[in-house]
Amino acid sequence: MAACTHLDTIAVSELPESVDGCEDCLATGSRWLHLRICLACGHVGCCDDSPERHASRHHADSGHPLIRSLEPGETWSWCFVDEVGLALPQVRGTTRIPPSPLALEWGP
Ligand SMILES: [Zn+2]
Ligand SMILES: [Zn+2]
Ligand SMILES: [Zn+2]
Repeated sequence: MAACTHLDTIAVSELPESVDGCEDCLATGSRWLHLRICLACGHVGCCDDSPERHASRHHADSGHPLIRSLEPGETWSWCFVDEVGLALPQVRGTTRIPPSPLALEWGP
């Protein structure tokens, strides 16, 4: 596994049972594609393919390095600082998420 030096920042060991979507998109009326959760504080943001890229923006604002995908079937995590993908078996659980408003708009 590639080196990530930020594993001691992980404060979320159990993923939430469900989330309503990207919290920043919900606050501003924007739309997200895929959801990511910050493993330092539990902030739920959207991926870099979403118009607002709130997960990246949260990292830029807070310095929190690690996110994990909340998409169904995806268990990967990503360190923004080391720019490395990693698997974190110590983060448990699966999160129920609503369908992406962007994907709904684009259709199947
Ligand atoms: Zn790292
Ligand atoms: Zn967002
Ligand atoms: Zn955070």
